[in-house]
Amino acid sequence: MKLHEYQAKSVFAEAGIPTPGSELAESAEEVVSAAETIGYPVAVKAQVQVGGRGKAGGILLAEDEDEAREAADSILGMDLKGYTVERVLVEEAVDFTDELYVGVTMDRSAGRPVAMVSRKGGVNIEEVAEEDPDAIAREHVDPSFGLHPYQARRAIYDAGIDREIAGDVSSVLTTLYDLWDEKDASDAEINPLMVTGEGEVIAADAVMNIDEDALFRQPDLAEMEEDSYTDDLERKAGEYGFDYVRLEGNVGIIGNGAGLVMTTLDLVDYYGGEPANFLDVGGGAKAERITNALDMVFSDENVESVVFNIFGGITRGDEVAKGINDALSEFDEIPKPVVVRLAGTNAEEGMEILNADLVQVEETLEEAVQRAVENAQEAGA
Ligand code: GDP
Ligand code: MN
Repeated sequence: MKLHEYQAKSVFAEAGIPTPGSELAESAEEVVSAAETIGYPVAVKAQVQVGGRGKAGGILLAEDEDEAREAADSILGMDLKGYTVERVLVEEAVDFTDELYVGVTMDRSAGRPVAMVSRKGGVNIEEVAEEDPDAIAREHVDPSFGLHPYQARRAIYDAGIDREIAGDVSSVLTTLYDLWDEKDASDAEINPLMVTGEGEVIAADAVMNIDEDALFRQPDLAEMEEDSYTDDLERKAGEYGFDYVRLEGNVGIIGNGAGLVMTTLDLVDYYGGEPANFLDVGGGAKAERITNALDMVFSDENVESVVFNIFGGITRGDEVAKGINDALSEFDEIPKPVVVRLAGTNAEEGMEILNADLVQVEETLEEAVQRAVENAQEAGA
């Protein structure tokens, strides 16, 4: 579960990490009144859970009321990488001389948490890790002891952080590690940790992802979850009870079982297509679930073609086939071509039942995916 920036900042602030004064706003009026309380200049920041908001126009600075209004008008309601911006964080703008990075995550290959510091903050840290890995200082942590003070100091020294701010950065890093541990986070990150001309450090951004399986013992954080769907389709998926992830391609994918859906995604990529989503309808694919799944993919305006990949187990292939027929016969015209591959229990019966006027049936997974990719390419041509 991903926290919004404003939520993560409140968690960080409560633990003593310096954060700018801020208020959440949903309209231009609220932005202006928040800015007046906080004092100009302010930063107006889209509250959607994607990175790189700055570059995408989701963060604007405002010096006065006119600019605050302009910033609100341009950010509220905008589409940011598939998310509609409904709220902004209005924040005391930080006058910075430097942008640092601090983060804590689980290093799976080491089997230990790792605390990281870099002077190259304010940019995508994954890119830094790829292009200049030495620019990130890392300390692996023994979770039974936590991050030792000497480790924090060593990381800060290795990262080349100025001595004047080393103590403050060190206490931010230590607090961030403690939070990561206490709150059952999978990641906790401050990028950028801004350094001001007066030599203060302040968390200008905040990322915190919580392990879903631990939410039962983090009731305060679990409560924050309900408003975590900002993408209309993800909200809909939540209502339908589907596991769904929106992606950027145009081949809509529906399957039963996470592994099967992942395989389908990989094959779409292999055959030169781009998946539009991950959608696992789970077991018992009755007509209603199929109708809902089709509603999901057809509601995604990027989708040009759809592939069903169903493995009959407890759910029998003939039932699924009936469900697909029923769902598709509701349409006067099928919005986008649908390819179906059935395997497993009663697959042959299922394939016979499928109505060839409504769907394209393929015997193998490879053929089905290839056909769906071709359909998408034809639509795009
Ligand atoms: P992200 O792009 O979604 O990670 O959003 P961030 O909160 O990290 O902001 C991206 C960039 O916007 C920062 O690295 C800064 O360059 C700029 N920015 C954000 N907040 C402020 C602020 O308060 N003052 C100034 N001057 N720049 C800011
Ligand atoms: Mn950031």
